[in-house]
Amino acid sequence: MNIAYYNGKKINNLNQISIYNASFLYGINCFEGIRGYWNPEIAKMNLLDSDKHFERLDNSISHLRFNYNFNIKDLKIELHDILYAEKIEENVYIRITIFVDGETSWSEQESISRIISIRSISSRLCLKNSITMCFSNYRRISNNSMPPSVKAGANYLNSRYALLDAIGKGYDGAIFISQDGFISESTGSCIFFIKNNVLYTPNLESDILASITRERIIIIAKKLGIITIEKFINPDSIRDYDSAFLVGTMIELQQISQIDNYQLDLDNPVFLQISLAFEKYVYGFEI
Ligand code: PMP
Repeated sequence: MNIAYYNGKKINNLNQISIYNASFLYGINCFEGIRGYWNPEIAKMNLLDSDKHFERLDNSISHLRFNYNFNIKDLKIELHDILYAEKIEENVYIRITIFVDGETSWSEQESISRIISIRSISSRLCLKNSITMCFSNYRRISNNSMPPSVKAGANYLNSRYALLDAIGKGYDGAIFISQDGFISESTGSCIFFIKNNVLYTPNLESDILASITRERIIIIAKKLGIITIEKFINPDSIRDYDSAFLVGTMIELQQISQIDNYQLDLDNPVFLQISLAFEKYVYGFEI
């Protein structure tokens, strides 16, 4: 499945944006990616933490100074109407993009449009595979240049540089260091470390996107009696940690086997406990 609605109307031609559109030319847009987990046992779609995604989208719209009169409440209703009309009964990835439309400049504030696209996606939560990472030489964008807390399309140029550089060096992914020299996040996900059954993750001041999955993992861990410490983490300290994993809407949970030449343990019992609980949570079960 691959469908899209442009300002509330279903479109069949997915390539109909103007070539002079500032979102296309300069990446002047913000967006959210929301996973919908279909639970066949109770025939119900769980839009994972969607209220949080809408809240963050609202914040991004304000930061980009889009004068957008279509409010978040209406957007939520529109998404629910689309899911109902399309009778979707599978795991999906929903992307809501708010962008400068028409033949406009990068400073345009008024000509704002929305696209909601929905496509099939499978969950990889049951797979316990792992990836290798390196610290990137590209520093994370920061609050005084391009705030990483805004989920803006153009921010991903920073991610692109780092990821392609890492792949070129033979790694699967990159971890950013912040402008202040602390571990920040990966190119599209946040990072957790484990030491002696305690979770550690870079704090919100480490130039990270305030990840909704990160927040959910902290809540789930607390329910399981696992403490999370949010702090500045020095890249030189990674050898103190036993294990590490990435979290994000797209990546879900992903173990890291190696950072630069430091090997990390896989299948840490804390990781396994959290990923089991998270898998239940995404399908709408109590944990
Ligand atoms: N950091 C970055 C840079 C991201 O692009 C994402 C993906 N949205 C995340 C972290 C994870 O955020 P979330 O859990 O809200 O998807």
